[in-house]
Amino acid sequence: MSERPVILITNDDGVHARGLRALRAAASALGHVIVVAPTREQSASSHSITIDRPLRHIEYEADLHSIDGTPADCIYLALFERRFLPRRPDLVLSGINHGHNLGTSVFYSGTVAGAREAAMRGIPAIAFSAPPGSTEVERVERDASHAVIIAQRFLTVSRDAGGAVALLNVNFPKRDPLGRLVTRVGRQVYEENVIPRRDPGGREYFWIGGTLIDSEEREGTDASAVERGYVSITPLALEATFDAQIELAERVARE
Ligand code: MN
Repeated sequence: MSERPVILITNDDGVHARGLRALRAAASALGHVIVVAPTREQSASSHSITIDRPLRHIEYEADLHSIDGTPADCIYLALFERRFLPRRPDLVLSGINHGHNLGTSVFYSGTVAGAREAAMRGIPAIAFSAPPGSTEVERVERDASHAVIIAQRFLTVSRDAGGAVALLNVNFPKRDPLGRLVTRVGRQVYEENVIPRRDPGGREYFWIGGTLIDSEEREGTDASAVERGYVSITPLALEATFDAQIELAERVARE
């Protein structure tokens, strides 16, 4: 690659989020950086796309855009509407999310989905997440500098891999990282709360979801790596078929 790499950045915390701004600033050392991110927070939007209403666009300055949709909408538009990018990007980065995306969170995460939307279309992509409560400038900037080192290595490795595409899910530990570990997706257990309430008009509504109560501390998982102070790097599959259950499906089909 003789030209400077083109790097597209999105997130799910919204275009004004600190993690995204720090990643944008740090990644500019690597190449031509373009941000297309949600106008408002879209955490836990998973891989949804918006097809039932128009998508509005704001251009704040050169190479800094927002779309009033999901992270997947942002990547889709950036790739298929010509005005955003000078050419097909070499790398897509998503984050740095405020809050970890460990274990089963990879299914709910808008941050991961933004990266996956690019990887599904053959572009190497990385989702970055930092622990909750990590919005102090020094910590965000430290994570961004580690993110850029990983992005740089990933660019080189993807180039050497001759077009084999990868999707990486990266989580940073709380303190200065002791190193980087390749991990598997673990299991996080959250409270399964439903809180029914009434609005001032007397109509009932619900809050769902809860806080983390347990994370599987099995050796080799993403959660265990960050807990022990390492940067966790997990390659995520793009293939949805569960090969281990083909035989079960065949038994269902036969009867
Ligand atoms: Mn988020």
